[in-house]
Amino acid sequence: MPVRAWYALVASVIISVISIHSCSSDRELAKPTSLSELDILPHLKELSSDEYFGRMPFGPGDQKTVDYLINQCKELQLQPGNNGSYVQSVPMIEITSTSEDDIVINTAKGKKAYSFGKDYVIHSQKAVDNIVVDNAEMVFCGYGIVDEKLGWNDFAKADIKDKIAVVLVNDPGYGGEDSTFFKGDIMTYYGRWTYKYEEADRQGAKGLIIIHETSSAGYPWFVVESSWTGPQLGLEKESIANGADIKGWMHLDMAKDLFANCDLDLSQLIKSARKPGFEAVQMNASMSTTLSNQYKRDQSDNVIATIRGKNNPEEYILFSAHWDHIGIGKPVNGDSIYNGALDNASGTATLLAIAQNYVRQGIQPDRSVAFLWVTAEEQGLLGSEYYALNPTIPINDIVANINIDGCNPNGEMKDFQIIGIGHSEMDNIVAEELETQGRYVLPDQEPEKGYFFRSDHFNFAKVGIPALFGEGGYDHVDHGIEYGKKKKSEYTANNYHAPSDEYDPESWDMSGVVQDAQLFYNVGWRLSNSQEWPQWLPTSEFKRQDQLID
Ligand SMILES: [Zn+2]
Repeated sequence: MPVRAWYALVASVIISVISIHSCSSDRELAKPTSLSELDILPHLKELSSDEYFGRMPFGPGDQKTVDYLINQCKELQLQPGNNGSYVQSVPMIEITSTSEDDIVINTAKGKKAYSFGKDYVIHSQKAVDNIVVDNAEMVFCGYGIVDEKLGWNDFAKADIKDKIAVVLVNDPGYGGEDSTFFKGDIMTYYGRWTYKYEEADRQGAKGLIIIHETSSAGYPWFVVESSWTGPQLGLEKESIANGADIKGWMHLDMAKDLFANCDLDLSQLIKSARKPGFEAVQMNASMSTTLSNQYKRDQSDNVIATIRGKNNPEEYILFSAHWDHIGIGKPVNGDSIYNGALDNASGTATLLAIAQNYVRQGIQPDRSVAFLWVTAEEQGLLGSEYYALNPTIPINDIVANINIDGCNPNGEMKDFQIIGIGHSEMDNIVAEELETQGRYVLPDQEPEKGYFFRSDHFNFAKVGIPALFGEGGYDHVDHGIEYGKKKKSEYTANNYHAPSDEYDPESWDMSGVVQDAQLFYNVGWRLSNSQEWPQWLPTSEFKRQDQLID
């Protein structure tokens, strides 16, 4: 029995005894202190200013951001969280793949070149100088999913070695009628590009290219283009070193054109890829291109600080937020600094505010608390993955993770959206704490976009730590639901991963940021003063185990 399962068993017995007397039998739990805008805004403005150059790991804002966080931790007199240091170095490799030429695809209709950026993006995650793709055959492999339990294998008949797999984004459940088939519209991990890249490595493919489609991906093409142009960071792993040479995306328009040139009906193929028994289709097309890679090894830092618990110091509540963003990129309206004010200077600042409020309480919590600011989230959750693989606190001692990535700049909301609701008992705890704020739970409104897999808590969930991830909902206290929805979709369309994600005193209403910061603090304060061990629900794909990460 894994240790955590043992904990679970013992804890459930203990909790059932204790809950009769309530957790305040020893001492009355002090009311959490009130957070204010002043606790958050100065940090948010500072970190999202142009002086931090968009906080790209290895970039000109990297050390400056880390120094800022360390200084704040020192000022708050937090304990260093890694053997006397506030820093955990995260060794990474930065690879800049340059296309020597455009992709040329040869079909029965002849050769056709496509343009980088407009039609496709490709890159290599391998530390090798040159990648040559010379007339590699292309195979349409459905969604690129292998699940032995479901008996699903999109590569079964593909014979993919030395070939390029072309796959669809998301999973076959999306847009269907059956909510139990790949969880229907709820995106499973199989729908994420990270999974598809990992599967390409396992399959020994020469490469893998994902066909982009805005609604299935959850974001428009420009996000793909801006995220996959320029230097890419990665952790160096054997699976990658031995894996696929190239990975990338193609625009839906390119896919339509390409499949038409192959005399293949893309919409018909999508239909069949959604059905059990789908077999990969040789496209009778071959692809050529050359990449040259420049790479360097360097390290960026996770920052970690702790507050020691009084009665159960070996047990931890882990707060996390990524400090990085995407740096300097393609100018939009003359601005090339991607400030990431919302994403995630807001969460970084909120974590500082929460730490400050733990200190302000003037009482040691029962359990210890850790504040972890991770690097390189934007490049594939790398800092948190590294932490999960190299934890400074034994994973089994971490009671829960509370992750903050992007706060609500639109003012106070009556609701709070739990992203990835239905995974763990954290849902109930949040619901109770929301009630004390006079608010209610809004279930994940866009489960099809797979946001639960798109921030750092996912790496903690993978190793078995129940995680809370959420944000202020849509139900605006003064202007109602339509207003809240409109504001949120405006951000996704205009500011997400764009240089315009900046702090703007005219359009930002910080009261919503404060309201959610208070909620996260209340949840943390409660858990750090209780003996609760929130459990995963039986329906979740996450368990207290250790094999989901390699
Ligand atoms: Zn983020």
